[in-house]
Amino acid sequence: MAEAGSSADRVKQQADIVRVVGEYVRLKKSGQNFTGLCPFHGEKTPSFAVHPVKQIYHCFGCGKGGDVFNFVMEMEKCSFPEAVRIVAEKCGIAIPRPKERSPEERKENQQRAVLTEMHREAQTFFVKQLETTAEGKAARAYLEDRGLDEEAIGRFGIGYAPSGGDLLLRHLKQKYPDKLMAESGLVSRDQSGARLFDRFRRRITFPIANESGKIVAFGCRALGNDQPKYLNSPETPIYSKSNVLYHLDRAKDALRRENFAVLVEGYMDAIAVARAGISNVVASCGTSLAEPQIKLLGRFTKRVIVNYDPDAAGQAATERSVSLLLEHDFEVRVLALPAIGDKKADPDLFIREKGIDAYVKALQEAPPYVDYLIARARLMDLTTGEGKLRALNFLMPYVQKIPNRILRSEWATRIAQQLRIDEPVLRAALSKAANERRSEVKTQPELVGKAAKPVERRLIRMLVEAEGFKRELAQRLQQGRLHQGLETERILGALIAAGLSEEPMTPTEVAALLEERERRLFYEILFEPAQEGTWEEAESCLEALRGRRIEQELAQVQREIENNPPAAGMRELLARKQELLRRRASGQ
Ligand SMILES: [Zn+2]
Repeated sequence: MAEAGSSADRVKQQADIVRVVGEYVRLKKSGQNFTGLCPFHGEKTPSFAVHPVKQIYHCFGCGKGGDVFNFVMEMEKCSFPEAVRIVAEKCGIAIPRPKERSPEERKENQQRAVLTEMHREAQTFFVKQLETTAEGKAARAYLEDRGLDEEAIGRFGIGYAPSGGDLLLRHLKQKYPDKLMAESGLVSRDQSGARLFDRFRRRITFPIANESGKIVAFGCRALGNDQPKYLNSPETPIYSKSNVLYHLDRAKDALRRENFAVLVEGYMDAIAVARAGISNVVASCGTSLAEPQIKLLGRFTKRVIVNYDPDAAGQAATERSVSLLLEHDFEVRVLALPAIGDKKADPDLFIREKGIDAYVKALQEAPPYVDYLIARARLMDLTTGEGKLRALNFLMPYVQKIPNRILRSEWATRIAQQLRIDEPVLRAALSKAANERRSEVKTQPELVGKAAKPVERRLIRMLVEAEGFKRELAQRLQQGRLHQGLETERILGALIAAGLSEEPMTPTEVAALLEERERRLFYEILFEPAQEGTWEEAESCLEALRGRRIEQELAQVQREIENNPPAAGMRELLARKQELLRRRASGQ
């Protein structure tokens, strides 16, 4: 893949796979490798390893593996050239601009670039409207009333979409064709499709940026009583609601540093929490969290405090989100803010009324989701058997999602105590739930672990690592065709070809020649702790293969003899058998 001398090759040589992978996975040093939780399959104990010397990764659970480019391609769901560019960017390596592949791709890239540019211009436009117009002045008064001063307005890029109905349209029209403007979502078409007008009118605008900080959409709040109260950008080629978390672009460092996220519902909440000094806050910008958002967040931390609105919709969203987060192995706590007077408090209101310290304290004391859910269940009528059953049925789906048996058992005790349910009865229900869960768990991909014999494993390692003699070793294997018939025949075959070729090949390039199952085995072998091989050891491995080859031939000859062939054939077979026995005895 990476041709020698190409920019991909250069990037690969300079890039540090540990650093790149480390941006997505929390890695810990373990022996000569780094290990962490695999980003490609759900797991509790790390089976994902990165080899800093060979610059490869491999997951012993799901079998994914490759070099730094494979990793980025898989993670970002992007093409090879894109992966090269991303790695180069992350590692600060300069590369020439990539050539796009197809005309369609070029067109799409151009379109995305123009749409992003249009959003940048719209942002400038909205900010200017807020700052300089009479309408903007009213909007500023409203923001001030909500506790958003000039500093906050500047920091979060808050702007104003005027009521005129075509001001932004006229502004953009000077540079962009109608079709593109309509695709940006900033402008809408009327029902006839003939006329364009501004999508956002008389609204406060909040720019929504993607992970890398580029504005891709706007969230807008009505200034007056216009409906809907909140109106966001539609799905466009650069924006998909379920793939974006508001404020993530600014929260990344804090998420890694604090190793937990505060998850809120809307951008006003996120802004209020971030302004309180808690930068590791993100908003789902919708009533519930979507799966891609969870995966996105999981790249930075697996611990979340959910702090949604306390209304019915918020509670339902909390329960759905908890459930989904548990499925993705998150550690979840839930903060349900107490009402202020008779007002239910969202984070924004709570911080304004009670202050930053009170909010920080509430966050610190946020209970594990278990307690939150039990508290919710206790609100049900527990005086009757039916009521208890309803409460239990409310809790059971969550229990089923807990992968850990000890935790499940702790739950049982807590639920029994809190709901005053007979513990043995509850445990029976729990274990039934656990069994149902087990039947749903898909069988792990077959581990090919100990398939290859130790000798084959050692030879594979030496063919990769023994700079001093790997060529010689490849020649000897090739001459004796000693790899034929082995389980690792194809791996050895590829390594022999690599060893004999003039151009040196990296392990990843060799892996690219293999089928999936063999590639996995190959990576597993590369990650085994092993000492450096010596020529002596190589020779004894060759010897073992030769011995094995003789045994196989002997067995074959013996079978043919037992078939009792005609005399001439029999004589030949007996002679062959003698020859093989002699060679076996002399060890040649
Ligand atoms: Zn995996």
